[in-house]
Amino acid sequence: MENIELKPSGQLMPTLGFGFWKVPNPMCKDIVVKAVKAGYRLLDCASDYGNEAEVGDGIKAVLDQGLITRKDLFVTSKLWCTHHRKEHVKVALKRTLADLGLDYLDLYIIHFPICVKYVPIEERYPPGFYYDGVGPKPIIDPVPYQETWQAMEELVDEGLVKNIGVSNMAAALLMDVLSYARIKPAVLQIELHPYCTRNQLVRFAQENDVAITAYSSFGDASYQSIGMVKEGKDFVSLLNHNTVLNICDQVERTPAQVLLRWAVQRGCAVIPKSASDQRIVSNAQLFDFNLSESQMDSLNDLNINLHFNDPDKYLGYPIFGN
Ligand code: NAD
Repeated sequence: MENIELKPSGQLMPTLGFGFWKVPNPMCKDIVVKAVKAGYRLLDCASDYGNEAEVGDGIKAVLDQGLITRKDLFVTSKLWCTHHRKEHVKVALKRTLADLGLDYLDLYIIHFPICVKYVPIEERYPPGFYYDGVGPKPIIDPVPYQETWQAMEELVDEGLVKNIGVSNMAAALLMDVLSYARIKPAVLQIELHPYCTRNQLVRFAQENDVAITAYSSFGDASYQSIGMVKEGKDFVSLLNHNTVLNICDQVERTPAQVLLRWAVQRGCAVIPKSASDQRIVSNAQLFDFNLSESQMDSLNDLNINLHFNDPDKYLGYPIFGN
């Protein structure tokens, strides 16, 4: 299993992780066990996924069964958009730690550069984007990102998290964070696949020792399943794209493995999600083959700057806007 060194702490982050977005609550415990048995060493969680307590049951199971030790498991979670004010950051982390049954996280990420009006945990959890729980518009609470970042740094000082990171941001905001960060962001987690290659952002982050974690490596697959996008005139499903399928024939691998390998060869970590036993195993088999330069180039050429997870589409809030 490969790792990426996180420069601010020196800790190694596993290149392969398992993502828990949309994993049904009753399946989480078993899936943690299956993922650890299949070789995953990183669990990518978030308060917003609404399943941290059940993931916590799985973590307890793998530790109790002696399948892994706490220090060999890398657990990530994310601060939700209702809790960006400095007095709310630690409150949110404490709930996540309690649900996961842990006394520290390996990585805590600010989920989106979007702050919405505070909803106390006792009122609704996870709160989602809408103050009234329904929408259709979020109530934006304009908290400076620096305020949230400084509260995140205090969590490191207190030993509650080992590393802190950012997500869903473009290069200009990352430049800003780097200008004031006492503790630099260890990780930038972004949507990354051949339809959205983000070359400039990946280059800038890596040049500045910010490791990249790629999410939604299978492009539309994750969003088709919740009706957020439909294959049509704009794109064919990435897992069925002829370029991907041709490379699969050449390297004798599945489309999913080729897409994950593409990100790994760009020096990124990956966190695929699956609820199928067979795919949990096959998605982890990424470290015994290589894509050639021309195979990498032909995947890079598919770029159309297409974000499937674009808050402008579902909130009318254009964080990636030009
Ligand atoms: P993903 O790209 O991992 O795709 C998941 C979908 O692909 C599922 O529908 C699954 O059934 C299907 N799939 C899985 N393996 C397959 C295979 N071998 N062949 C064919 N289909 C397969 O998408 P994701 O869940 O959006 O992203 C992965 C993880 O990234 C999430 O679970 C979450 O942890 C994280 N994430 C973070 C953010 C963020 O804002 N930071 C946003 C989205 C996702």
